[in-house]
Amino acid sequence: MAVSFDLTGKTAIVTGANTGLGQAISVALAQAGADVALVGRSSMADTEAAVGAAGGRSLSIQADLSTLEPVDRIISETVAWTGRADILVNNAGIIRRADAIDFTEADWDAVMDVNLKTVFFLSQAFARRLIGEGKGGKIVNIASLLSFQGGIRIPSYTASKSGLAGLTRLLACEWAAKGINVNAIAPGYFSTNNTEALRNDPDRNSAILGRIPAGHWGQPEELGGAAVFLASPAADYIHGIVLPVDGGWLAR
Ligand code: NAD
Repeated sequence: MAVSFDLTGKTAIVTGANTGLGQAISVALAQAGADVALVGRSSMADTEAAVGAAGGRSLSIQADLSTLEPVDRIISETVAWTGRADILVNNAGIIRRADAIDFTEADWDAVMDVNLKTVFFLSQAFARRLIGEGKGGKIVNIASLLSFQGGIRIPSYTASKSGLAGLTRLLACEWAAKGINVNAIAPGYFSTNNTEALRNDPDRNSAILGRIPAGHWGQPEELGGAAVFLASPAADYIHGIVLPVDGGWLAR
């Protein structure tokens, strides 16, 4: 059997698809042949246009992922569109920065809700549907270097992304035998809204750049291939990994 990265006929759900890494992942999945449900709380116009320009089809689903309200609706609206849901990319995420000594409960809860709690329950709703139909599928979680490292001034973010690495492994163990692959990508330092504060700080910017063997901030398009790979039949025997796409940062 030939190795296949083809996603033709598959339907993918990508959260936080309006910008940044979620947008780039949506376009890459569409280029590989998938129909893409774009989930988020803001306008998806840019991503809809980019998916269309790549020859793909998209459906936009408005959803605030800070609560569990939209979880079942995301699956049902997707299935009402194409009749299926094969791939879930849990990309939406937020970050709050403050010294640990001053960190507030509000900043703890906000990050944990979007980055971990909703990811779990959306994955559960997705897997319940697949298991109910006796079908396999793919879940790709967007983790972080903070799934491996401590970082500074981002306690709830590091806790959420380290937790997400553990959750990825647990779900892989429970669902691998059902044909559902659960894996994660750990992006390094990419040029998006999430890292704007770091890039605008000259000291942090040059310290980060100086440590990246590839010598540049990641561009969102540089993440798409890993997402297509983990969503494709080529990854059918891969379960529970956290794949760094980091310009060599962790190798340093
Ligand atoms: P971004 O801020 O540009 O994108 C975050 C996305 O999440 C946006 O689409 C935003 O609308 C969505 N989102 C946030 N809260 C939401 C909510 N309540 N409801 C619905 N959508 C919500 O940043 P990004 O860099 O593209 O981040 C994407 C993912 O990649 C995040 O999980 C982030 O933690 C992770 N990540 C980013 C980097 C990086 O260097 N940029 C590195 C490691 C991990």
